[in-house]
Formats: sequence, C-alpha cells, structure tokens
Amino acid sequence: MTRTPLKNDLDGYEVWFVTGSQNLYGEETLQQVAEQSQGVVAGLDGLPVKVVWKPVLKDSDSIRRMALEVNGRDDVIGVIAWMHTFSPAKMWIAGLDALQKPLLHLHTQANVELPWNDIDFDFMNLNQAAHGDREFGYIQTRLGVARKTVVGHVSNPAVRQQIEDWERAAAGWTAARTLKLARFGDNMRFVAVTEGDKTEAELRFGVQVNTWGVNELVEAVEKATDAEIDALVQEYIDSYDVVDELLPGGARHQSLRDGAAIELGLRSFLEEGGFGAFTTSFEDLGALKQLPGLAVQRLMAEGYGFGAEGDWKTAILVRVANVMGAGLAGGASLMEDYTYDLVPGNERILGAHMLEVSPSLTTSKPRLEIHELGIGGKEDPVRLVFTADPGPALVVALSDMRDRFRLTANVVENVEAPDLPKLPVGRAVWKPAPDFATSAACWLAAGAAHHTVMTTAVGIEVFRDFAEIAKTELVVIDEDTTVRGFQSELRWNQAYYRLAQGI
Ligand code: MN
Repeated sequence: MTRTPLKNDLDGYEVWFVTGSQNLYGEETLQQVAEQSQGVVAGLDGLPVKVVWKPVLKDSDSIRRMALEVNGRDDVIGVIAWMHTFSPAKMWIAGLDALQKPLLHLHTQANVELPWNDIDFDFMNLNQAAHGDREFGYIQTRLGVARKTVVGHVSNPAVRQQIEDWERAAAGWTAARTLKLARFGDNMRFVAVTEGDKTEAELRFGVQVNTWGVNELVEAVEKATDAEIDALVQEYIDSYDVVDELLPGGARHQSLRDGAAIELGLRSFLEEGGFGAFTTSFEDLGALKQLPGLAVQRLMAEGYGFGAEGDWKTAILVRVANVMGAGLAGGASLMEDYTYDLVPGNERILGAHMLEVSPSLTTSKPRLEIHELGIGGKEDPVRLVFTADPGPALVVALSDMRDRFRLTANVVENVEAPDLPKLPVGRAVWKPAPDFATSAACWLAAGAAHHTVMTTAVGIEVFRDFAEIAKTELVVIDEDTTVRGFQSELRWNQAYYRLAQGI
C-alpha cells in the first residue's frame, strides 16, 4: 500500500502576481508597466510562498483565462492583483467571477517618493494606481468578491507582513480544501458543541469528514513489528526525558511499547488513507490498550489535525493552524479551557486535556511519563508532560450555528505556570484579552466551544484572512472588545449572515 507522508510546509506553492492595464497606452508604456511590476514582485522576494510575476493583462479574455488557469493549478494558492495604470474594470468581470482562489488586492505604486520637480503627464499616466485601483475596488465590491486589500509600498515591512499573513491563510485554505479527516468512533455521547453538519463542512471548507470503526485502527496497531517498536522507543529516549519505569528494563516498559505500537498503527493508517487530521473517542477505544496520548501529541506536532471526543471541527482548525504556521516558531494544538484561578486582578485560565496537547507549544524537553487515567477504562496511558512557553497565543473555536459555521477567536498571553507536580499532562496557563471577565462573557455569548486550537505560531491577522477567504463568520475577542459591543456584533452578524445566504 502506498503511504503519503503529511505535507506540512509551504514548499512548491506559488501565488501569481497580475498587473492590470489596457491597450490604450501603447507598447512603450506597457513595457514600462511590465518592468515596474516585475520590480514590485522583486520587492516581495523572500516571502514564505513564492510570488510569481505574470505578463500584464490588457483585455477581458486574457483575464478570464488567467483565472481559469489558476483554478486548475493545485500549486497556485492565490492571486495578487495591482492596477498600475487604469484597467477598465468591466474587463475584470468574467475573470473575477470565475476565480475560485484567494485574492489579494495590492494597492501600491512603483515609486515611494514623487519626483516633484520632474513630474509630467507621462509620469501621471504611468503611475495612476491611485485611481486605477479604485476602479478595481469598485468592481470587486460590486461583484461581492472576497479579498484582502493591502495598501502601501512593498519596501514597507508592514506591507510585507500583511501579504505574508495572507499567504499563510491561503495555504491554510488550500490545506482545508484538500483535507481528508478520519474519525475513529463518533462524538462523545450527549455532547452538543462537538456535533456539526459534515456535509456543510465539505461544501464550506472542502474537508472530507468520514468515520472508521476503531478496530480498523487496532488492526493497524497490531501490525507494528518489534523492530519498528524498538526504533521508535529509541527515538523517544533521544527526544524526551523518559521516566525510569518506562525505560527498557523498567517495570512498565511494556506500556511504552504499547504506546509506540499505537503511534506506528495510527501513522500507517493516516498515511495509507492520505489523512491530514483525525479524531478519537475515549468512549470507543475497541481493543486499543490505551487511550492514544503520546501518539496523538507527536502527530499534532508533526502537523496533523486532531480533535478529542470525536471533535472533527477542532481537528480541522488544528490542521489549518499547523499549515498556516509552517516554518515559524511555536505550534498548534488541541486545547481545552479547563479551570480558573479567580484571584481578582490576576485571573488565569488553566488549559489542558486528558492527554492530547501538542509538545510544539514548548521549547523545553517534555517528560515522558505514565499515570492512571480514570476515564476510558483502559490501561494507564503514556503521555508527554510539559507547560506551554510563555508568550503571545491565540485560541480559536469553530461552532455549528445550524445555518452557518462561526469562528470565535481570543487573543491571549501564555504565562509562566506554577509547578504542577500532581497534574502530569501537557498544559498551558494564559491570561485572555482584554481581561478575564470580558473574555469569558463574550466567549459564552458567542456559543464558542470548550475545545479550541491554541496557536503560538500565527496571530489573529492570519485567522482574519482565513475567515475572509472561507467566507465564514469570525468574531474576535481582543484588547478592543467590550461585552456590549460584542453582543451587538453577534446580533448584527446573525442578521447579516442569514441575509447573505439569500432570501
Ligand atoms: Mn475534551
């Protein structure tokens, strides 16, 4: 059987840079347009996704063909458009209507400073994005085209950062559009928020969500050979501080070997099926000896999406966040708001899960331990124990609101945790923006889940771009949020998103 390793980088992707003009200007000017737009592209060198210059577009048919070519190319994940001169925008109707990839409108100019002493009308005719891009903005708005607008010269680091954020969001979108998600067992019984419309998810996000009996995973686990297990155990010893009882010759070494077999089986199942995300359910472990802990933690750190208790929606977010953060410090993980420290003025949230938090949230060496788990009725599971690094982070949840999906995001700050000697799991301690009470009140008002993706690699701007591309509601709780304002936004959104679906 062929096994496909997970793609978790941005290599091989392109975004196309297209410049709009028209034939009115004559060859000489169009040559200048081409050269100067190449200069803009050169200024975007070094972004995580390569920006590729395309010949200047001057008529409706070539614009439409460009869009169709982009749609058909899996490696082209988005289009950047700039109207250096005036490109009459009716020429763009067919192309924009056909384009199915993320679009960024770069409102820029070839030069930074105006040559005040030498400026003549030839210069004005060439450098007229100030009104050429307004014509383009009009037609995009008229057609209802989702896009990101970035304003400024490409030598400005803030402009580059906004383009990079969008590139990362476009890569996350590409990952979602091609994502196959395997569920082992169903959602945790009686739980509401982890439910959702899988058919709608495939239409909106492109994700294929399907379920396999857990004993198919058990069969894959049973195929793990002693030699493979030996090698993986050695990798654990090289990577983590493994407690003595789990080491070869230790009293509980067999439990570590059982955990390694689960990782080998999971990995082979995922690679053979081409899956990029998965869920498990502690209520449906079949003949698995342990609740998968260590294996899930390590697979998330490699870029897989994961949700516990059958939570496929959060598994999508973990996968998307992993791709969007490719190459950056930090990581993405399933997280769960667990318990609070309510000391006034210093409120903190302790987040964790039974086991399944990704070690990509820490730069320290995790400890590999074994402890009892009261839930699930299986043998004691092996797990990595650590605390997420202090620093900026983001938690994002995905809820099914019946007629649409809603993303809710909270900007948070991971902080140092006290010693937690009796809590041997991966965990994070954070302070939410703008303050604990506002954050929690808004989160509850939004109907956002207790499961989230926590990312320490990308910020809110990347998720804003992702939501825009996905045409999905996103409500953000950050330093500017008030409960009253947030509640109003929820009401307005309720009306807007229903109207936007058509009457
Ligand atoms: Mn949970």
